[in-house]
Amino acid sequence: MSYIHRTIADLARSSPAQALFYQAVEEVLESLEPLLESDPIYRQNAIIERIVEPERQILFRVPWVDDEGQVRVNKGYRMEFNSALGPYKGGLRFHGSVNAGIIKFLGFEQIFKNALTGLAIGGAKGGANFDPKGRSDREIMRFCQSFMTELYRHIGPTIDVPAGDIGVGAREIGYLFGQYKRLTRRYDGVLTGKGLLWGGSYGRREATGYGCVYFAQNMLLGRGETIEGKTCLVSGAGNVAIYTIEKLYQFGARPITCSDSTGTLYDPHGIDLDALKRIKEEQRLSLREYLKEFPKAEFVPLEAYPEDGHAVWRFPGQVAFPCATQNELTEADARHLLANGCSCVSEGANMPSTPTAVELFVRERILYGPGKAANAGGVATSQLEMSQNAGMQQWSFEQVDQRLQGIMLDIYRRCSETAAEFGQPGNLVLGANIAGFRRVADAMLQQGVV
Ligand code: GLU
Repeated sequence: MSYIHRTIADLARSSPAQALFYQAVEEVLESLEPLLESDPIYRQNAIIERIVEPERQILFRVPWVDDEGQVRVNKGYRMEFNSALGPYKGGLRFHGSVNAGIIKFLGFEQIFKNALTGLAIGGAKGGANFDPKGRSDREIMRFCQSFMTELYRHIGPTIDVPAGDIGVGAREIGYLFGQYKRLTRRYDGVLTGKGLLWGGSYGRREATGYGCVYFAQNMLLGRGETIEGKTCLVSGAGNVAIYTIEKLYQFGARPITCSDSTGTLYDPHGIDLDALKRIKEEQRLSLREYLKEFPKAEFVPLEAYPEDGHAVWRFPGQVAFPCATQNELTEADARHLLANGCSCVSEGANMPSTPTAVELFVRERILYGPGKAANAGGVATSQLEMSQNAGMQQWSFEQVDQRLQGIMLDIYRRCSETAAEFGQPGNLVLGANIAGFRRVADAMLQQGVV
């Protein structure tokens, strides 16, 4: 059995039933083979065995009372995975599917993503198996307050700085921050994605989506093309998808799809951004609403999805932006994309393509930007927010956006130069994993056996 497969088997034994975590680990370790062979120092110091084990796992009860007066209980998590490069940093996910394995996969990805930004941030992730859908504003507030009542003792501006993820946006960060302040009496930069009036950064809301488009543009420029005029497929309808679509319009591209948990929306003229923002950011309704205003658009309900994949990837487009969630793009989807002439995929979500879909993209040598590189603009801008908080400043939108563009270009260069260094030019999966790993591992080596 190879070293990698032995590591996965050991993990499956010691941390059972965490399939997504093993998937994330396997993808990284497979890329690391050439590095581990050329430089024995990592194996000699058990860096792999240490890096797959979170430094600290915090699991807690989140009791709260719903609007009917009924007591509810959810599971809360914060996995502080790696602090070699800086304070733990990563989002909180509130979704019915959340469990320890999901938070571990996300935390593990976050280590390398954060390392790739070149900034001083470690990796962590947290959340709860709480589904905000259909919950009133008051219920959300009570839930957030209860969640923070346990979490506050574990976090701090130089300890661990959570942010949003699926189900956690500006509203939730506001309630979480309010409770943190009340419990500690401190006005700390302890969360990012805050409101602009109270310590937030301009550009943080837009950063993941914008960054993902900047990354696609960098990949395309590497082949002497640009995104202007290209037809684009986007999945998701949350913060990442919305600002991916916004930046695509600014770059003269045409985004024709988006999706939510009820189905996929297709508008061949291009998704109307104002309508999308209204439906999702203000009204919090299903994408089906869009048809009321644009009856010529098409809506594919969830029930009508193909058995082997997702309706969104069956429309023809030249560039694809998976911006919804993990494993939302299957091998069959990848085949359809390639057959329809798609030549570039830039991932706004975390691990949205299944391993066999990734394999296909790499084998076919299309431009493929894995999530930990392409969606790193969000967390990078979070670090800019931390930096503004520490200096008691607020920078302009233009200043932040300039920095974001520079960071996305650096990440692209780091990934492609590392891929070339290991004899696989253009393989950004290999480049991202090795470049991210090497930075963290070297810091770990210098800090001793901890
Ligand atoms: N949840 C985002 C991510 O997956 C952002 C994390 C952050 O800003 O800390 O990277």
